[in-house]
Amino acid sequence: MPLRGVPIVVTGPSGVGKGTVIAEMMRRDPGVVHSVSMTTRPARPGETEGVSYFFVDRPRFEDAIRRHELVEWAEVYGNYYGTPLAFLEENFNAGRDVVLDIDLQGASAVRAHFEDAILIYLLPPSLESLKERLVNRPRGDGDDIDLRLSEACTEMRMIGMFHYALVNDDVGRAAQAIQHIIHADRHRLQRVYPSLRENSLLGRPKV
Ligand code: 5GP
Repeated sequence: MPLRGVPIVVTGPSGVGKGTVIAEMMRRDPGVVHSVSMTTRPARPGETEGVSYFFVDRPRFEDAIRRHELVEWAEVYGNYYGTPLAFLEENFNAGRDVVLDIDLQGASAVRAHFEDAILIYLLPPSLESLKERLVNRPRGDGDDIDLRLSEACTEMRMIGMFHYALVNDDVGRAAQAIQHIIHADRHRLQRVYPSLRENSLLGRPKV
């Protein structure tokens, strides 16, 4: 039987370079797919339905919330965003691991939903380097760098629920470390022999 896929959550403070690291990791490991969120925000030029997002209207999204079709959801700048359970399940059943690029609250919800989720927190090499990245990247109107930094500090104090912490001092190295985590997890005893969960007294190892 093929190994069932698992969720791989990658979280980190705004500006840590999560998107770049995930893109590099996926370039190296085509077996991993990226979660596709549902959103009420209109598609931007170049975005594709079912690839960038599942674009829906508010009544459809609210219906999805009521029907428990979303593992987690949030309202960001007046639009709804959420992670559809069906997309994840289809991929897990096909043996594909799914990477989710979500915030701390989303990570917590995924962890509560899937006991085999792998939670990775990406850290900046230093607060100075994070500030530098926030200052140098294109900014939206409402972006307040001091606020982002203080949010990052608060968030980084709450990383106890994650299994792994990686410092993003080099994109290639961070991407490779995520690959190693994924590859090691494919040999985790309870994943290779899922029935052990019901039939033995072994608990899930705390990593
Ligand atoms: P954008 O509109 O620029 O694509 O995304 C805006 C924000 O929504 C980003 O901070 C992004 O991380 C967040 N977001 C995208 N998809 C999801 C999702 O499925 N769940 C949650 N909680 N946030 C999401």
